[in-house]
Amino acid sequence: MITPEAILGVLGGGQLGRMFCLAARRMGYRVWVLDPDPHSPAGALADRHLQARYDDTEALGEMRAHCAAVTTEFENIPAATLEYFASRIPVRPSPQSVAIARDRIREKRFIHAQGLATAPFRVIADAAELDAACTALRLPGILKTAQLGYDGKGQYVVHSPQEARAAFRALGEKPCVLEQRVELAREISVVLARSVDGQVATYPVGQNVHIDGILDTTRVPANIPAEVADRATGMAVKLAAALDYCGVLAVEIFHATDGALLINEMAPRPHNSGHYTLDAALTSQFEQQVRLLCGLPPGSTRLLSPAVMVNLLGDLWEQGTPAWERLLCHAEAKLHLYGKQRARAGRKMGHFTCLGEDITAAARLAETIRHELSAPT
Ligand code: ATP
Ligand code: MG
Repeated sequence: MITPEAILGVLGGGQLGRMFCLAARRMGYRVWVLDPDPHSPAGALADRHLQARYDDTEALGEMRAHCAAVTTEFENIPAATLEYFASRIPVRPSPQSVAIARDRIREKRFIHAQGLATAPFRVIADAAELDAACTALRLPGILKTAQLGYDGKGQYVVHSPQEARAAFRALGEKPCVLEQRVELAREISVVLARSVDGQVATYPVGQNVHIDGILDTTRVPANIPAEVADRATGMAVKLAAALDYCGVLAVEIFHATDGALLINEMAPRPHNSGHYTLDAALTSQFEQQVRLLCGLPPGSTRLLSPAVMVNLLGDLWEQGTPAWERLLCHAEAKLHLYGKQRARAGRKMGHFTCLGEDITAAARLAETIRHELSAPT
C-alpha cells in the first residue's frame, strides 16, 4: 500500500485532475501533474506541474523516478506513455483498460463479448461500409468517430445515406461507428470503485440529462425502480470484473422506452455524473481514485443526501463573471469552479450541487439557482 506523503502522478491536468489533486493533498499525499497547458486547472493545485507533452521523454523520466504510482485523467494519453510507466510503477487503471475505453469500436465489441447490449451499431472504416450500414440500421442514426470524441464532439445525427456520407467526410473519413438513435426513456450512469484485489463499491445510480450532447444535470438517486437500478449496477460491475479493473469506472447507460438497458460508453476515470459525490457521499469519487491507486480498499459510497448537480458551461460567462453571491447565499448549494482562464461556449467551467431533505427540494433549489445565475445583474 502506498501511504502519505508519497508522490502520486496524474497524466492530464483538467478539472478531473484538479479534483484528484484536492482529494490527494487533503489526505497528505503529494501530487505531480503532467500537462502541456501552462494554465492547467490541475497544475495550479499540484505540488509540481510538469509542463510538457505526454511523450516528452525527459518529463516522463523524471515523473517515473519520483512518483509511487500514476493515474490518468483522460483516455487519450499515448499508449506508449502508459506502458513506459507501467514497466516500473503501478498505473491504475491499467493501460489495457484505458485502451478499450478510448476506442468506441473496441469498447462496443468488449461490451458485447460480456453478453451486454449496446444500441445497434455498425463499424465504418470506409464510405462503402457506410451505405451498407445505413441499410442495415434504422435511421436516424448517430455517426461517431471511434476515437477522441467528447461532450458530443465528433458526432453527427444523420437521417439519410447522403447525410451520413457528408458527416463521414466532415469527420475526416476516420474509423467511425454508426449507431441507431435509441428512443430514450432516460439516461443513467453507474460510478463504481474497484480495488486492485477486486473489492467493489458502487454509488447509487445517477440520472442524467444531456443538452446538445453535453451533460447538464445529474440527480441522485435516479427516478427508476429498484429492479432497474440493480440491473444497471450489475452490468457495470460485470464490465469492471471482465476488465480486471482497478480504479474508478463510470458506465453511461441508455434506458430505452422499451425497457432495455443499453450501454452507451464507459469512462476509465471519475466522471462528470459522479461530481455530486464530493458533497453528497461519504467518499468522493476522487478520494476513491486516490485510494485505489494506492492499493487501499474502496471507501464507503453511502449517500449522505439526495443531490442534484448542475454543470456550469462557458455560455454563462457571456455577460461577464456570473453573480456567484446569488448562489453562495443558499445554505444547501455547493459551488465548484475549475479555475479555467477562458470561458468558451460549451466549455465546462465548473458545477454546483444542491442538497436537500428529498430529491424534490434539491431539484427545486437547483432550478432557482439556475434562474438566478442567468438573470441580468
Ligand atoms: P461524453 O464524453 O461527454 O460522455 P461523448 O462525446 O462521448 O460524450 P456520447 O456519450 O456518445 O458522446 O453521446 C452524448 C449524448 O448524445 C448521449 O449522452 C445521449 O444523450 C446522446 N446519444 C448518443 N448516442 C445516442 C444514441 N445511440 N441514441 C440516442 N441518444 C444518443
Ligand atoms: Mg457520453
